[in-house]
Amino acid sequence: MYDENINLCKKCDKACHHEWCGPCQINNLKENFRNWTSENEKIDNLVQEMQLKISYYNDTVFEWIPYDQLEIIKEIGKATVNFAIWKDGPLYYDEYEQIYKKTCPNKKVTLKYLYNSQNITNELLNEVKSFSIKRYGIDIPYIYGISQNIETKDYIMVLYDGYCEKCGEIYTDIKKKWCKPCQIINLKENLGNWTSENEKIDNFIQTIQLDINRYHNIIFEWIPYNQFDIIKEIDKSDFVTVYLAVWKSGPLEYDHYKKEYTRINNIKVALKFLSNSQNIIDEFSNEIKICSIIPTDSFNICEIFFKIYGISQNPNTKDYIIVIKGACCKKCGDKYIYEYVHYKKLNWCKQCSINELNKVCIKSGSEEIDNIVQKMQLKIDGCEDIIFEWIPFNQFDNIEKIKNDGFVTIYLAIWKDGPLYYKGNKETYKRKSYNNYKKVTLKYLQNIDNQFLNDEINSYSIKKFSGDALKIYGISQDPDTKDYIMVFEDGYCKKCGNQYTQICHKWCKPCQMNELKKACIKSGNEKIDNFIQEMQLKIDHCYDIVLEWIP
Ligand SMILES: [Zn+2]
Ligand SMILES: [Zn+2]
Ligand SMILES: [Zn+2]
Ligand SMILES: [Zn+2]
Repeated sequence: MYDENINLCKKCDKACHHEWCGPCQINNLKENFRNWTSENEKIDNLVQEMQLKISYYNDTVFEWIPYDQLEIIKEIGKATVNFAIWKDGPLYYDEYEQIYKKTCPNKKVTLKYLYNSQNITNELLNEVKSFSIKRYGIDIPYIYGISQNIETKDYIMVLYDGYCEKCGEIYTDIKKKWCKPCQIINLKENLGNWTSENEKIDNFIQTIQLDINRYHNIIFEWIPYNQFDIIKEIDKSDFVTVYLAVWKSGPLEYDHYKKEYTRINNIKVALKFLSNSQNIIDEFSNEIKICSIIPTDSFNICEIFFKIYGISQNPNTKDYIIVIKGACCKKCGDKYIYEYVHYKKLNWCKQCSINELNKVCIKSGSEEIDNIVQKMQLKIDGCEDIIFEWIPFNQFDNIEKIKNDGFVTIYLAIWKDGPLYYKGNKETYKRKSYNNYKKVTLKYLQNIDNQFLNDEINSYSIKKFSGDALKIYGISQDPDTKDYIMVFEDGYCKKCGNQYTQICHKWCKPCQMNELKKACIKSGNEKIDNFIQEMQLKIDHCYDIVLEWIP
């Protein structure tokens, strides 16, 4: 296979990734050893050893960095950690010229002081060596090089800008420069004094609020009712009414540049008014209980599970209100339907889905058939429902007849593109590649009118989990005979051409009974044989126990 990252080394002509030839680059570094010195043999050796560790074009080239290259910008009182600008900046590999260059001057770096390091101990050397030169896949800052304070003679490690400026510790999230302990302090300030005037609720909110592990975790809050401008009602049932509203001050989100939380004003939210909601805590606790079966190492519960911004209260009715994030479709403002697919909650908007299918699906060329297809598509009420389609006949391959009894003709076939699936993160329908070449059953309908076709199609299921009901994918037409063809899931027994007794297990009772008759040993006693046969006929599930004569 052609790999665009493979090319030839200008020096030795060997193939290399990213135009980076390990042996030649290491030679270059070695040749360059005489062009710099720390004026201390042990340190020189350390720098050389660290330099020769490179094994990838993107690794950092560890350097001896003269102290006048560093301009201290911030010192934290006690700490061994300072922040500085490195004037020339680090070396980066230039793939075109196949050499290292300083292309990023004035780089912000962290300086970690090795105090009292005039005497170079093994401990000091090992501490330096414990840092990585890999730029990728880090959860501790990588190292650029070593320097020395001219006055104190202390050595200084020059590290990637991955330390919190406030506390001097490594960021909890280095990439996003998010320090959990400092941000919790910041959040407490931001949230100020608040109370729901109900101790249980206050405690509940407090525990969730500060249980954050990532910069993008939702900050769960008590939100005063006067923060909302209600736009319209979007859903109503006996105990719950849902409104679309604007949250004026909006939620707290982490700002990478300011390195603090700020409010995103005027965010659309859904307000779920719970009448008689004294037990709101139980309601939440229940959701959390279900959620606790989901690993929550990387997200907090609010985020992965219910995307709830917080709780509010209607001051007149005293009903509690759940404030939900993104509960309305971004495109049409209609309410989303939520579904859990593999523990993931997906947003799905019926109206927008129908609109999309209208555009995506191929037309049959017959208005009546298109109407039938559209009517079937309108039946969807969740993101896992099957999308009924017009399927052009040339989509079928390996067509094999399994039944023709004068009334019906059944074929097995492969549907090349396979069915449409909802892609939750993109909120769109796609054909998944692993569903290409899907096994289907084709049922030919001869000499029928459109009304019959319509009724017949409507009697089948488009639900993914429909038990033993046969699922229908669409309709097609034989280009030669002009017969319409219903396209079903792979639900017909290949042996007898009838529908499986249990579709989900592809289990056909009559065929299995025949097998049993052949396979089971006779007892030699007619009465016993009849009894056994009677018992065997009672089987109506593939997991049932088969009674047999055991010699
Ligand atoms: Zn080479
Ligand atoms: Zn911090
Ligand atoms: Zn929509
Ligand atoms: Zn069968």
